[in-house]
Amino acid sequence: MNEIKDLARGAIERRRQDVIDVGDRILHMPELGFKEYRTAGVAKEFLESLGLAVRDRIALTGLKATLDTGRPGPTVAVMGELDALVVAGHPLADRETGAAHACGHNGQIAGMLAAAIGLSEPAVLAGLCGRVVFIAVPAEEYVEVEYRRDLVRSERLHFLGGKPELVALDELADIHICMMVHLAPMEHRAGVAESNNGCVVKMVRFLGKASHAGGAPHDGVNALNAANLAMQAIHAQRETFRDEDAIRVHPIITRGGDIVNVVPAEVTLETYVRGKTLEAIFDAEAKVDRALKAGAMAVGATVEIETLPGYMPLQNHAELGDLFLANVAGMFGPDSIKKDGHRAGSTDMGDLSHLMPAIHPYMNGITGAGHSVDWTVTDQGAAYVDPGVAMAMTTIDLLGNGGQQGERIVNEFQAPMSRDEYLEVQRAVFRTEAFGPE
Ligand SMILES: [Zn+2]
Ligand SMILES: [Zn+2]
Repeated sequence: MNEIKDLARGAIERRRQDVIDVGDRILHMPELGFKEYRTAGVAKEFLESLGLAVRDRIALTGLKATLDTGRPGPTVAVMGELDALVVAGHPLADRETGAAHACGHNGQIAGMLAAAIGLSEPAVLAGLCGRVVFIAVPAEEYVEVEYRRDLVRSERLHFLGGKPELVALDELADIHICMMVHLAPMEHRAGVAESNNGCVVKMVRFLGKASHAGGAPHDGVNALNAANLAMQAIHAQRETFRDEDAIRVHPIITRGGDIVNVVPAEVTLETYVRGKTLEAIFDAEAKVDRALKAGAMAVGATVEIETLPGYMPLQNHAELGDLFLANVAGMFGPDSIKKDGHRAGSTDMGDLSHLMPAIHPYMNGITGAGHSVDWTVTDQGAAYVDPGVAMAMTTIDLLGNGGQQGERIVNEFQAPMSRDEYLEVQRAVFRTEAFGPE
């Protein structure tokens, strides 16, 4: 196995500059979720240059390329996310859309392509069985919610995130194990957390009554006051959240009124409700709904609460995580890796971890804070090349040696949900409720 791993690493290292170039090229063309057509085009071209057949325009912008050994065995997906997010003022932000790669997804695509170089090397492929599917996934960042909700309403999408959409389209039916690498600023080369929060998303509209803010405020119903009271009422829930549930509720007001001399008649707010388990999320979101209604009730406004499915909590597969970290330790030494506990952010890799063995490790090469203006790729080799090497090596662990290890992990895995159960839970989150005076 070590020999095959060395061959894969050597193949990737020989094309090191190409991997760095593609990572940087995508860095400079950030696109938002479900709009990543150009980024997908770059990935497609690269995969085709390796002789892989690519099927694209899956879930609007996603693509898949299959590397088949021709021998029976499990199918491993190596994934990368295509999208950027809006970070106003980021030095590399797109001038028109404000999109910037301040979460490092450009590095994910570079890493996935690097893994494809290593695994498609003929001498490597000859030592493997089963199949590897490279998947460029749209829209992990849960942004531009109204745009995506309209795509759902017009039946162009089932869900608002890329991986849930792939599940809904049954594009992962043939995948047994999946992996990706997310970048993060950290001291260690690589880390794997035990778990991540899941979330639901709320789009909220307070409706009051406009009136002259100076001359006749008594004739109005102030929707901004309703929203402010609701935010306070949400804060009053926080002492009821248990530490172990890692609840995060972080509303923003997206429209606070129209002109200053009119009592605001319509105010909108968005929030996620995150937590470590589905049970904890559903408990917290009921409290959030109650708080939103309390704000409306206090001033006699109406509140419309639209709840949208977010992402499932992530449970990293422990053994896969260990295999991954062992490969990084093999490259950079035993002190280069770290295991973490729970992380409070959310990712739609959580959804896949309910269906199959999945890992979402972190690797470095970055400075600055995630989703901020100072997020910078400082070591392209670490951010673009090494994740590809580590994923190729982990895939070799699974599919080398007759595919025994991969086969065993797949057989032993007890999925928390079937695909049907997953779709039922996520679909049930979609609801709109209105509360107000008769
Ligand atoms: Zn992000
Ligand atoms: Zn991210």
